[in-house]
Amino acid sequence: MTTASYESVIGLEAHAQLATRTKLFCGCSTRFGAPPNTQTCPVCTGHPGVLPVLNRTAVEYALKTALALNCQVSRQTALDRKNYYYPDLPKNYQISQNYKNLGFDGHMDIEVGGETRRVRIHNVHLEEDAGKLLHPEDVQQSTLLDLSAEGRAALAGMTLVDLNRAGTPLCEIVTQPDMRSVEEARVYMETLASALLYLGVCDCKMQEGSLRFEASISLRPFGATEYGNRVEIKNVNSMKAVVHALEYEAKRQADRLSHGERVARETRLWDDAAGRTVSMRSKEEAQDYRYFPEPDLVPVEVDAAWLERVRAAIPEMAPARRRRFVEGLGLPDYDAGVLVADKALADYFEECVRLGAEPKAASNWLMGSVMRQLKDSGARIADLAARVPPQGLCELIAAVQDGTLAPNTAKEVFQEMAATGKGATALIAERGLRQISDSGELEAVVLRILTENPKAVADLRQGKKQALGFLMGQVMKATGGKANPKAVAGLIGRMLPKAP
Ligand code: ZN
Ligand code: MN
Repeated sequence: MTTASYESVIGLEAHAQLATRTKLFCGCSTRFGAPPNTQTCPVCTGHPGVLPVLNRTAVEYALKTALALNCQVSRQTALDRKNYYYPDLPKNYQISQNYKNLGFDGHMDIEVGGETRRVRIHNVHLEEDAGKLLHPEDVQQSTLLDLSAEGRAALAGMTLVDLNRAGTPLCEIVTQPDMRSVEEARVYMETLASALLYLGVCDCKMQEGSLRFEASISLRPFGATEYGNRVEIKNVNSMKAVVHALEYEAKRQADRLSHGERVARETRLWDDAAGRTVSMRSKEEAQDYRYFPEPDLVPVEVDAAWLERVRAAIPEMAPARRRRFVEGLGLPDYDAGVLVADKALADYFEECVRLGAEPKAASNWLMGSVMRQLKDSGARIADLAARVPPQGLCELIAAVQDGTLAPNTAKEVFQEMAATGKGATALIAERGLRQISDSGELEAVVLRILTENPKAVADLRQGKKQALGFLMGQVMKATGGKANPKAVAGLIGRMLPKAP
């Protein structure tokens, strides 16, 4: 038996770092990449006697997220203490939510293989992040420490803690176990990241840890209604890692089940280098977090006026935008789906259209040359836009449409624009790329070619189509490939009767 005999049941938890300037309970900066422990204060390092002050913007961002995910909102929400001991948690408790989550009972629709699937959202809540543990012998992390080789050697084997991230606001988004394949889990992650970017509440830079996922997966025979034993997977640092870890687990569990063995309910760690999960702790030993209401913070009243203000600030989201691109701009649904999946790409597209580009032409450029360039260079659309702004792409599109540039030449010009930041018009002039469409200039060439090739002219007059290809080839050769093929074909047709 293989995985094909079993259905996967997958749930996902996301931790999205909210894009506030300061932390959840103090005024420390949340900027990424500062030297260790330079963005800390007595509050976020858990000194005795300090009191937290709740960041209003963080609450609004979480509220916005909850509303966009179709959640019910607790009109009186409150924070709770989640107690556990770990070196990256200075207070020995995390301020989180457990009893009155900000949002609950929501859903997000995802599109998988042309079908819409609904993933229910169990809850959306607010909590603070922990610090980060550093292992000096780990070269990549050690670059953060700015230590000499000796300094690093002296610290080898130790664990250091950086509390810059401690107290950063997180929005945790917990799904019901509603995904039935690894592919659905992948699409859910992408759709959620896209939604968070549309909302502007999280920058979703997974490599910086600002969007993190944990997954749980169990298997059951197709048609069964009861859930199997669930395995939670931690240490998955990218969407790709989540996908690989889930694929691995689905296979591992299927192997066990098909051999009559049981799957233990446990937490497993993903080892990205080895490409497998390893047992971390059995669920039976899982800590009791002894949640209780946070005594240092009053409950938050979410009144109707506040809720309405936040609701009004929710922008047009991807599904509505997709409909508008199809119905309003006449784009094929496929194009619209590709463009709106990335808010920045869709913004770029809309700016091109606003500047006068024909929507389908702009869409073709974005889905072709632009996306290929982004993929090859690993850059984001914002980086590319610094060199090729929408105005620049519009010039290029116009140059193709008015016959100045042949389509293939235009693609080369785009590559050069992306590499150098030079404008289309400047490059066309500088490199002498202007396509010859002007009839006066072309007429002389065409007439000469017709005169020099009486045999081909005679063949064409007798209706032999290959002769046209030959004559056009001669004209293209004579103009160094710069003649506009459409104009040449037209001219040959018109001048044929006059030819000797
Ligand atoms: Zn602080
Ligand atoms: Mn959490």
